[in-house]
Amino acid sequence: MFVLPRFIGAASRQCLSSTLTRRGRPRLVVSTRTTTIPKASFLSTSSSTRANIQPPHSNNSIPPYMIAMISLPLVGAGYLYVRYQDEVPLTKRQRWIATSTKWETQMGDQEFAKLKRQYKSEILPKDHRASVTVQRVGSRIAQAALEFSQEYNSIGNNNNTFVQPTFTVVRSDQANAFVLPGNHIFVFTGLFQYIQTEDELAAVLGHEMAHTLARHVGEKISSNLLVQLLGSLSLLVDPSGSLLSLIIPSASLLREMPNSRTQEFEADRIGMHLASRACFDPRAAQHFFKKMKQEEEKGKRSRNSRPPEFMSTHPSHDSRIDSMHGWLQETNPIYNREDGTVCRKMREDIAQSRRIAAQRHAARENQHQQQRVLA
Ligand SMILES: [Zn+2]
Repeated sequence: MFVLPRFIGAASRQCLSSTLTRRGRPRLVVSTRTTTIPKASFLSTSSSTRANIQPPHSNNSIPPYMIAMISLPLVGAGYLYVRYQDEVPLTKRQRWIATSTKWETQMGDQEFAKLKRQYKSEILPKDHRASVTVQRVGSRIAQAALEFSQEYNSIGNNNNTFVQPTFTVVRSDQANAFVLPGNHIFVFTGLFQYIQTEDELAAVLGHEMAHTLARHVGEKISSNLLVQLLGSLSLLVDPSGSLLSLIIPSASLLREMPNSRTQEFEADRIGMHLASRACFDPRAAQHFFKKMKQEEEKGKRSRNSRPPEFMSTHPSHDSRIDSMHGWLQETNPIYNREDGTVCRKMREDIAQSRRIAAQRHAARENQHQQQRVLA
């Protein structure tokens, strides 16, 4: 899951309503009447004759200023469309992005500051066991994401600047996780009831970081801009707004819904690649999503059970789980690279880090208990 900063959505709605209320644009009238041209009149060089044949402001012809009004934005839009074509790393899907990574990061940073204020009292301290675990697993995924980004930049398919992630764990019943542009990842503690292993946590964090790597928020904002541009152009042709009212719902159905599904699939696939690079078992993604799906089905049967929020924006679970199974053919060779020796060694290090973290946690608990006894 990933979220758009709310102010961006609000800005889009404001822009749209202003285009809907626009008035007073000249109406484009294309007449079907034929004009009878006097014989040989085209040979005449007399300005008065030319004026009789093609009056500059006749109701039967398209005024030049109108042609310019329509063609210039179209040429401009065409140029911008070609200029800002971009390719998703790994999947190689072409899309249009007009925003820069820097701008997306700045917007994400602002929203991050807001959310930190909003969740202030519920944010777990950095030394809390859950925060330590998320940070430890997340930093390994981040290292894999950095290498992934550098690799795709080096082959010229991508020009993204990798931003080091932040991890914020929020105490909440919600089973949810999301990422803001700028790689700010939020994990709600309700999600831990479905996460039994660090491999499953890696699947979630890999999915979120993949949204940032693939710049899905920038893509979404850009496609909203494109719809607004088309809406404005449609008003030139049809000032009544009838065409606009057709364009907006069609765009939403045909573009946004499949797009968000495509983006979720991409985040799953790239996320599994990141987990495998970081030596977390890529099969864990399937296990985790199966558990979430079962919980959601249980939620539909029972009124008291609430479906996990993480799934609410992730459609078509069955096909996603099937796709994950297919992607194991790509990720297993990464996970088992060099006959499995790389990840065997790294997983020993991961286990050692986990043991050290558990010992530190136990020592801290002891210390707190002694302080409580002394108090
Ligand atoms: Zn997602």
